[in-house]
Amino acid sequence: MTDNIQSLGEFSLIESIKSGFKVPEGAIGIGDDCAVLPQKTGLQTLVSTDLLVEGVHFIREDIGPYRLGWKSAAVNISDVAGMGGRPIATFLAFALPSDTPTSWVEEFVRGYRKLSERFCCPLLGGDTTLSKSGISICVTVLGECAEGRAKLRSSAKPGDLVCVTGPLGDSAAGLKLSLYGRNAEVIYADNKKVDALSCDVPASTTESLLQRHFQPVPRVHSGLILGKCDGVHAMMDISDGVGSDIRHILKASGVGAEIDVEALPLSDELKATCSAKGWDAVELALCGGEDYELLFTIDPESLAELEVKSYPIGRITTNPELKFKGSDRDYRGFTHF
Ligand code: ADP
Ligand code: MG
Repeated sequence: MTDNIQSLGEFSLIESIKSGFKVPEGAIGIGDDCAVLPQKTGLQTLVSTDLLVEGVHFIREDIGPYRLGWKSAAVNISDVAGMGGRPIATFLAFALPSDTPTSWVEEFVRGYRKLSERFCCPLLGGDTTLSKSGISICVTVLGECAEGRAKLRSSAKPGDLVCVTGPLGDSAAGLKLSLYGRNAEVIYADNKKVDALSCDVPASTTESLLQRHFQPVPRVHSGLILGKCDGVHAMMDISDGVGSDIRHILKASGVGAEIDVEALPLSDELKATCSAKGWDAVELALCGGEDYELLFTIDPESLAELEVKSYPIGRITTNPELKFKGSDRDYRGFTHF
């Protein structure tokens, strides 16, 4: 029986990946030097790449292969949603240690496929190489939008409302719970009785936060609707936390904003967990990141007719500063280095 990818070999591995994905009409997918996609008049192509590195972006044992596959596709497709586009295809390059079990790759691909099918976004190519240290995953996504209609970070206007499409901070709380759980094991091993994931929060609550962290759902449908709305000016997906991401919009647009800390949408699960554990929900919502909701600015008149669930959290100002109303703190999201 073939039980790791070294015995399976590069090309059998690629074959097994290929067999699970349907190639769309008129396109050529995995198997040649390049994929071939038809050009469509009146549309523009969106392209984005993200890299996920073991130990930096994920802990292999915590996330597991299925959810890692799902998340690798999801976070990339989310970038297309952030522009108001429709995802078309992804490309998956990964570096794997030679002793990676075949079953690990199968589960990874199963999760990747599940998310891809949900958004009709097939895998059409990639690269597979040996890694001497840990797993790295690089996904490129292609998307499309009508000519000149991509929602940019640079289009926010003074007077716009700042909105998000869903609750913030769940993913960060999920990550904290997951890391906390690991520490608990270590502490237990030392025979000190600290029960980190203890019953002060119901399992269904922690499970929903863990799910939001490990299996985010990109807001593709909301993005498409927001993309068609003229009143929506600037847009992006929330990957580093609103405390960071809003700054990108402000800088690119040459404007400022006032964010109302009390208006942040917080889930019941987040509130319950934060009160049980003494965590700061606002900090998780603004600094945590990886919520993969959409952050957009909209002319206030257009908000009423918008067919997307949205939560106003502030307003764009001419004064190019970022202020947090209801708090005397500054909030910044995640940055590398
Ligand atoms: P090349 O040597 O030209 O880079 P490869 O032998 O690496 O080609 O890949 C063969 C085919 O398999 C290509 O179509 C490539 O896009 C595809 N491929 C390789 N690795 C992956 C992967 N991890 N996921 C999807 N497609 C892959
Ligand atoms: Mg290659």
